[in-house]
Amino acid sequence: MPATQTLTDQLKRKARAIGFDAVGIARVQAYPHADAFREWLERGMHATMAYIPRSEEKRLDPEQVVPGARSIVAVAKLYRTQDIPHDLRDDRERGVISRYAWGDDYHDIVKEQLNELRTWLEERSDAPFDSRVYVDSGPVLEREVAMLAGLGWIGKNTMLMSRELGSYFFLGEIITTLDLVADEPVTDHCGSCTKCLDACPTDAFPAPYTLDARKCLSYLTIERKGEIPAEYRELAGNHIFGCDICQEACPWNRKAPLADDTEYRPREGLVTPALAPLMGMSDEAFRERFRGSPLKRPKRRGLLRNVAVALGNTCDPDAIPALEAGLSDAEPLVRRHVAWGLGRIGGKRAQEALRRAGAAEDDADVLAEIDDALQQAPQEEETR
Ligand code: SF4
Ligand code: SF4
Repeated sequence: MPATQTLTDQLKRKARAIGFDAVGIARVQAYPHADAFREWLERGMHATMAYIPRSEEKRLDPEQVVPGARSIVAVAKLYRTQDIPHDLRDDRERGVISRYAWGDDYHDIVKEQLNELRTWLEERSDAPFDSRVYVDSGPVLEREVAMLAGLGWIGKNTMLMSRELGSYFFLGEIITTLDLVADEPVTDHCGSCTKCLDACPTDAFPAPYTLDARKCLSYLTIERKGEIPAEYRELAGNHIFGCDICQEACPWNRKAPLADDTEYRPREGLVTPALAPLMGMSDEAFRERFRGSPLKRPKRRGLLRNVAVALGNTCDPDAIPALEAGLSDAEPLVRRHVAWGLGRIGGKRAQEALRRAGAAEDDADVLAEIDDALQQAPQEEETR
C-alpha cells in the first residue's frame, strides 16, 4: 500500500478516535460552485456580512490561505443531543434557540480536536508540511470542501446533508500542503423533495440550493447587528436565536443519530427559556449566563431585540409588564423592538405605556417606532 494511502487511512482512524463523526479528504481544486458563490455575492444575498466578500478570493482558492496547499481534511461533529418537546417549542411564552447553541461554544472545542489531529499528523508524516486549522471562522467554503471530501451533498436548504448523520453537525478543516488520498464526492439525495423550501417561514430560498440571508431568521436574529426589518418580525414568531425549521423539515434528519458529548448538551434553561425574565437581564447577568455559549454573539442588545419581538408575537397582555420595563432599557435598539412588541399586543395598557415612553424619548428611531406602534396597535388587546 502506498505510503500516502496508509497515512490517510491512519489519519481517518485517528480523527474518529478523537471524536469526529465523519472525516474525508478533498483535493485542492477549482470549486464546482465557484460561479454560483460569486453570483450569490453579486446579488447581495450575504446581507450585511461584509467579511464574506472581503475574503472572496481566499475562500475560492485555498492556496491563498496556505501556499502550496494540496489537500483539505474535512471533519464533521454531531451536535444534536435531544429534540425539543413540541409543547415547549409551540409555547409562545418561551423562546426557541437553535440546537447548535444549547451547549458550549463549538468553535474552541472542535478547533482543539482538530489541533490534536494536526499534531498527530505532524508526528506521523515523513515530510514536513504547512497547514492551517479552521472551524467556521476563516476564509473557507466549508460546505463545498466537505462535499468534495465525500462527507455529504449540499441540499436544497444549502446545508451539508449526510445520509448517515443528517445535517446537525459542525464542520472543520485542516488545509495542508500534504498530498493525502482524496475521497469521491457523494451524489445528491434530495430528489424531488421540497420540504425544507416549503417549510421556511420567510421564503428565504429564491430557488432550491440558494439562500437569501437577508430573509433568513438565522441571519436576522444572530448576525444582523441593527433592527430586524418590520416585515420579518411577525414571521420570527418565538425564534430568539437562529432557526432550525429547514433542517427539522428534512427527512434525512429523522433517523439521524444523537450526539452524546456532554459539551453540546443543553445548558440549564437554554432549550426554550421563558421570555419575560430574559427581558430584564442586566449586562452582568447576560455575561454570566452566556459565558462560553454561542448566545453571546449577538450581544445583550441583539438578544433582547429578538426577545422583544418574540414577546410581541405572544399577542398576550401578560407580556406587557416585561415589555413595559424594556421601554427604559439603555439600548435604543432594544427600546425600538419593545415598542413594536407593545404595538403588536395593543390595548389600553400598551398604548399608555407607549405614549409615556414617547414623551420621554429622545432617540429619533425609537420615536418613529413608537409612532408606528401607536398607529398600528389594536385598540383592544389581541387574543391568541
Ligand atoms: Fe428559512 Fe429558518 Fe431555514 Fe432561514 S433557517 S432558511 S428562516 S427555515
Ligand atoms: Fe433535500 Fe428534502 Fe432535505 Fe430539503 S428537506 S435538504 S429537499 S432532502
